[in-house]
Amino acid sequence: MNNLGCILRVDNVLRPGTHNNFRSMMEVVNRQKAICVIDVTPRWHGEENSNKEYISFIKEQLEKGHVLALHGVEHKCRVLSEKDHQVSWLPSEDEFDCKDYHRIHGKDIPVNIQRGWLREGNDYLQKMFGQKTDLLMAPAHAYNNNTLEAMKKEGFVAIADYGRWDACPYNKEGVTTFPFDFEDYMKNTKPDGSNKDAMMEMFRRYFDASINQQGYYATFIHCDFSNDGSATEERLKFLDEMISYVHNQGHKFVDPHKMLIKK
Ligand SMILES: [Zn+2]
Ligand SMILES: [Zn+2]
Repeated sequence: MNNLGCILRVDNVLRPGTHNNFRSMMEVVNRQKAICVIDVTPRWHGEENSNKEYISFIKEQLEKGHVLALHGVEHKCRVLSEKDHQVSWLPSEDEFDCKDYHRIHGKDIPVNIQRGWLREGNDYLQKMFGQKTDLLMAPAHAYNNNTLEAMKKEGFVAIADYGRWDACPYNKEGVTTFPFDFEDYMKNTKPDGSNKDAMMEMFRRYFDASINQQGYYATFIHCDFSNDGSATEERLKFLDEMISYVHNQGHKFVDPHKMLIKK
């Protein structure tokens, strides 16, 4: 059986109010010696986070070998106002794709606009952490072919989607696509841990099913818990157990660059 590797992403990093959660989550990840992708949104909903301690903590994590990715610039729609949305959930969390933009204009957000956002995002990353990224983990996994075109022109090499039933990373229009599990099991664990065993059981099922294909599995955890509480002791225990399970099955969380598909 192939053993491609697993990906663990921490999303919504640098959103105001997530500093403590992110720290305690990274403590678990580091204790377990796992590698994760740090998904930064530099200007959450239009507000730049200039918390120096938070930024330097992220920098330290990158120095330890964790991987930087761009998770949108603002993590919200930048082409329509909230009231112009009918199809999208509100508040709008999509950035690179907007079903309502498509509904109104009959086309996807133009390549040049999306290129500008990618550049803007990388300028922020450069300013904050002294490095850029070539990974776009689009907010809400929302993107279109124009996004892929824009990415190639800006030197980005990989993106992620909700392809839980895809066996492995694959090449789409010259960009590596990493299929991700749809669930955030840590967030879905209640703050008091009362459903922790059920969440572990669900995680194990999808992990095993995915691994049985080509030895690949990818999942994410949100450091803002999508507005549903914080990184409680029980949730951190869940994260610890989840990583332990992966390790005990003989798998590792790796840098996604190790799995890029060239052709
Ligand atoms: Zn929109
Ligand atoms: Zn997000």
